Amino acid sequence: MPDTRAIIFDLDDTLYPERAYAFSGFDAVSSAFTTRLNAGFDLAARMRRLFDTPDRSRVFNAVVHQCNAPHPDALVAEMIDVFRRHHPRITLHPDADAALTRLKPSHKLGLITDGYAVTQHAKIDALELRPRVDAIIVTDDLGREFWKPHPRAFQEIADRLSVNPRHCTYVADNPAKDFVAPNALGWHTVLIHRPNAVHAQNPTAPTGAPRQTTTTLQSL
Ligand SMILES: [Mg+2]
Repeated sequence: MPDTRAIIFDLDDTLYPERAYAFSGFDAVSSAFTTRLNAGFDLAARMRRLFDTPDRSRVFNAVVHQCNAPHPDALVAEMIDVFRRHHPRITLHPDADAALTRLKPSHKLGLITDGYAVTQHAKIDALELRPRVDAIIVTDDLGREFWKPHPRAFQEIADRLSVNPRHCTYVADNPAKDFVAPNALGWHTVLIHRPNAVHAQNPTAPTGAPRQTTTTLQSL
């Protein structure tokens, strides 16, 4: 990381396993809906299994269908709402936890994350990240049009940290959208490979190739 003074992290599958968030959400949805669905099976276990199939994006539709529940569309919408608003039980990857502690005295630290605002803030609270970084931008707070790869969050956080873009590094996992803006702004960019990462197989966006890749934040 050449002459880096600020390190900005993505959240999902960079600092903690996104899969664990999904499983935590399945537990919350299972608690809320098992009785209403009259499910004759372990709802959370069924959802975890569906998560590892091509039906990943239709987990709730699939279990509602399997239960022959009435008004399936309304039910699925309610389940998605419970999932997005639940208080997750998630923990940092150990190397991320250690990196945040190790880098704090020598660098400005930040977070830029996409996703529904209520969901991302609940994750940030569960991981107790607010006192550990100097600036946080949940792009959804700016508006849906400012999710990555829009550059606004990257420009704003460099301003807030008072660090020149050429001294900023972005660390993230998704080559389809994470590195387009920071590359264009002259940041250094690092892709972290995580086993079982949700977006690991995504194709790399044009101009979105990371300048460096790693398998652990121990090397930062
Ligand atoms: Mg991510």
